Amino acid sequence: MKVLVINCGSSSLKFQLIDSETEKVLAKGLCERIAIDGSMITYTPAGGEKEKREVPMKDHTDAIRLVLEALTNEKTGVVKDLSEIGAVGHRVVHGGERFAQSVIIDEDVIKAIEEVSDLAPLHNPANLIGIRACQKLMPGVPMVVVFDTAFHQTMPEEAYLYGLPYEYYKKYKVRRYGFHGTSHSYVSKRAAEILGEKYEDLKIIVCHLGNGASISAVKNGKCIDTSMGLTPLEGLIMGTRSGDIDPAIIEYVAGKEHKSIAEMITVLNKKSGVLGLSDNLSSDFRDIEQGYYSGDENAVRAMKTYCYRVLKYIGSYVAAMDGVDVICFTAGVGENGPLIRNLICSHLTFLGITLDQELNNKRGEDLVITTPDSRTKVCVIPTNEELAIARETVRLVQK
Ligand code: AMP
Repeated sequence: MKVLVINCGSSSLKFQLIDSETEKVLAKGLCERIAIDGSMITYTPAGGEKEKREVPMKDHTDAIRLVLEALTNEKTGVVKDLSEIGAVGHRVVHGGERFAQSVIIDEDVIKAIEEVSDLAPLHNPANLIGIRACQKLMPGVPMVVVFDTAFHQTMPEEAYLYGLPYEYYKKYKVRRYGFHGTSHSYVSKRAAEILGEKYEDLKIIVCHLGNGASISAVKNGKCIDTSMGLTPLEGLIMGTRSGDIDPAIIEYVAGKEHKSIAEMITVLNKKSGVLGLSDNLSSDFRDIEQGYYSGDENAVRAMKTYCYRVLKYIGSYVAAMDGVDVICFTAGVGENGPLIRNLICSHLTFLGITLDQELNNKRGEDLVITTPDSRTKVCVIPTNEELAIARETVRLVQK
């Protein structure tokens, strides 16, 4: 079956058409600046040239229409007719407590996604617009939603509750949800496959280190803790997000800088993390890595603080699971950062970890980067959220 995977943002739309039998990407692309001047579509068919052109898109329906046109284009398209697309899988950021699994879309599901939208006010409405647009242009094609939060719904109460008045949980569902669930699920399962072990027998820590970053503890096939919370702001230090801070800082700095709470939250989301710590050198790890090697003090500070936070979370998850069998690194920084993996793993001698430096310097494939005698294994596994969404979509559609 050919599955169209859609990931809609407020002004962007990423897509991939995947053949579920071969698991190959037939075409992929991106619509940017939807409903803004200078809208662009980028389209790359498998084995073909990437094409980028400016086309007006007044809304997401226009964007999806252009995607479908590109996929069926006589010269560069990869399907003859839209009827070849058997299903659509949509990424939805927040499923609240209602969704611990992916589901087939119907009106009840759409209503439930709307109901939890105030937990992800920037993302869920955009995801819903994408769903509505596909329903309009591809009537009768089965569609599935895969939630970023679903994998973490197995967390026990003691992991998901905050030390706040319990009534906030009862009234407003203030709790930890976690994100990047599709990636944590894909990578942890893949680790078991690579090691030739049963998923249900392993204690796995997944470090998803991208521009956004989160870490999860997966024990016997279930997520028991993760670092992101009610929103993606909690946990690790990220490209521009602060991760964990003392909440009293917000009032303290707001008073000094004459900022509102909303302005402070923007600072914590957009101006903090590696960007803030490096005194605005960069949020991109390629720059931070380069600066670290040349001894730039801003880069060294950002790198050390970033790695120390990851290390502390690993330590706490080893305690939470009473051990660990394998630690996985994934996403942009985790997959491409031998330096980061070295800085973190060199502090994990208590777990009997020894990295094989030659393997640690490789990239682009699934790897076990520890020596054969290493007591705890370390893997690098390129994440593939689109493939995970396509697999889920096929599983539900063919049920
Ligand atoms: P993601 O959010 O998973 O796409 O990750 C994006 C981030 O990965 C970028 O902001 C970079 O910081 C980092 N990244 C990508 N490629 C490299 C690389 N070759 N070396 C180090 N960091 C990289």
